[in-house]
Amino acid sequence: MLNSIEKVLLSENQIKERIKEMGASIAKDYEGKDLLLIGILRGVALFIGDISRAIPMPLEIDFMAISSYGASTRSSGVVRILKDLDSSITGRHVLIVEDIVDTGLTLSYLIRMLQDRRPASLEICALLDKPARRLVDVDVKHKGFTIPDHFVVGYGLDYGQKFRNLPFVGILKPEVYSK
Ligand code: 5GP
Repeated sequence: MLNSIEKVLLSENQIKERIKEMGASIAKDYEGKDLLLIGILRGVALFIGDISRAIPMPLEIDFMAISSYGASTRSSGVVRILKDLDSSITGRHVLIVEDIVDTGLTLSYLIRMLQDRRPASLEICALLDKPARRLVDVDVKHKGFTIPDHFVVGYGLDYGQKFRNLPFVGILKPEVYSK
């Protein structure tokens, strides 16, 4: 697995430290409020575990699953809901938790869909931001790291469903996906 990685972009420790800061800032924003984290599966699996534990206040967690790239590295712009939320979000303070914002197409679609359900507030928290390929403007309130335009894997992010369990975020060797 490690020999498919060209370079470690964010180490386990860097991620851990940044998440601590993000958690504190989220807790400050939502003090005294009923907070619902919505994780977008599957890439968020590792991040939401760590960020939720870094937010020292009562909160709830729900998940949505949407279709993503499949085994390719390019976004089709087509978003399909594979699993909807179990909870109602009407009147609640919702924070969407996402692994990475790339073109922004996925989040802009989700935001529109979730706004229709009339939450009290709706914000985005993303571990990674790749602004170079943005097609739609999305306002990411809580952002972990801005990264250059590379296809990354690890810490929840996959290529062909593999590499999610790497504890760091790394750049995949181009020959792995050009095969
Ligand atoms: P967007 O709709 O913003 O283009 O894409 C968001 C989704 O694309 C992310 O949730 C993630 O699943 C996938 N994605 C975007 N960039 C990368 C990347 O560099 N690596 C991986 N593994 N997935 C990515």
